[in-house]
Amino acid sequence: MICSRCRQTLEPGSVFWSLDIRLTAEQAMADPGENCGDSGIMDERLESLLERIRAEDVRSLENQVFQQFQFKLCRECRDIFTANPLNLELTPRKFTDDQ
Ligand SMILES: [Zn+2]
Repeated sequence: MICSRCRQTLEPGSVFWSLDIRLTAEQAMADPGENCGDSGIMDERLESLLERIRAEDVRSLENQVFQQFQFKLCRECRDIFTANPLNLELTPRKFTDDQ
């Protein structure tokens, strides 16, 4: 068994972390009070969604709606992942010069 990230061998009996990621497409809803109950706008949105679905091929549509990833991580890779799971751009910390 090997770590999915660093490819290090996970020795029998060693601890590893199982990482499951599920991506599910959802639609952002308008805030309450914004076009509330306006079925004409909803029909328009539904129609444009259906048009997009017709235009996509099934495979790529599937990937847009649901994706699942499974990884096995060693302790070091778990620490690296949990420190920044969304891969955010980290701003470099400015050290003060004490000299
Ligand atoms: Zn690793």
